[in-house]
Amino acid sequence: CGIFAYLNYNVTRDGRFILEILFNGLRRLEYRGYDSGGISIDSSSQSFLSSNLNGQFSNSAPPPLVFRQEGNIESLVKSVYNDVASMELNLEEPFSVHAGIAHTRWATHGEPSPKNSHPQTSGAGNEFLVVHNGVITNYEVLKETLIRHGFNFESDTDTEVIPKLAKYVFDKANEEADQSVTFGQVVLEVMRHLEGAYALIFKSRHYPNELIACKRGSPLLLGVKELSEDMGTGASFLDLKFISENGHPKEFYLSSDASALVEHTKKVLVIEDGEVVHLKDGGVSILKFENDKGKRGTALSQPSS
Ligand code: GLU
Repeated sequence: CGIFAYLNYNVTRDGRFILEILFNGLRRLEYRGYDSGGISIDSSSQSFLSSNLNGQFSNSAPPPLVFRQEGNIESLVKSVYNDVASMELNLEEPFSVHAGIAHTRWATHGEPSPKNSHPQTSGAGNEFLVVHNGVITNYEVLKETLIRHGFNFESDTDTEVIPKLAKYVFDKANEEADQSVTFGQVVLEVMRHLEGAYALIFKSRHYPNELIACKRGSPLLLGVKELSEDMGTGASFLDLKFISENGHPKEFYLSSDASALVEHTKKVLVIEDGEVVHLKDGGVSILKFENDKGKRGTALSQPSS
């Protein structure tokens, strides 16, 4: 299967442009196998007016939209445009920042169907969304524990534990700490609990304009396109790791392989196992996941009842 994401920063793109970038990414990845597909995009640029939510839940951020469909990419494309028409979503709406994610699925757990397609979600409100390539081998025990914590599961996938775990970690952190938890901290904590192989891309209603990707075992690449002339040439892979917030317009791509990136940029970074890529405010930070078993983070504890 394949995962793909597109984030534009400081460059105005409309809804149709964003959809087509995502669909073209999936078309390039389709050879990796597919039985279903899905995408998530933002429903309104209104959500980005409050650019500094600091992890606090804000009612001003509408839930991201999720579209999922059984079959090949063209059936997904058709159903998305049908749904968009019936929702009267304005595809000409300009977004100066927008984060979209996409998936072609090759089912390992649960038959091909819309509910088993990705993005898998944390539940109503789409607080956390995940596209996943790979298999989570300890999903059963995670699922049982999350169910005891009150989560309702909708799919038969192994993947669904990931966004639900993210919500659990987010809610628990915000309950306990006076300081808001960052998207990166949430994902690092989720990774502590996951076993198996994965490349993941996370999108969240709590962190509009941000994407996080991480991997262990499955492939993942980051592509960056600088749109300003003075930044356009000569940046090496090393520089890419340290691209800082500088206001320059950029486009970021995440993909399972290079075939979906080459048409956009030559600046491609191969992400290594245990690396966590955080795209935010026009910058890339790469965090390193270290599974320090001696150190405890948010324990996924058994509920007392
Ligand atoms: N194990 C996940 C599922 O069955 C992901 C499969 C894939 O890599 O497409 O939903």
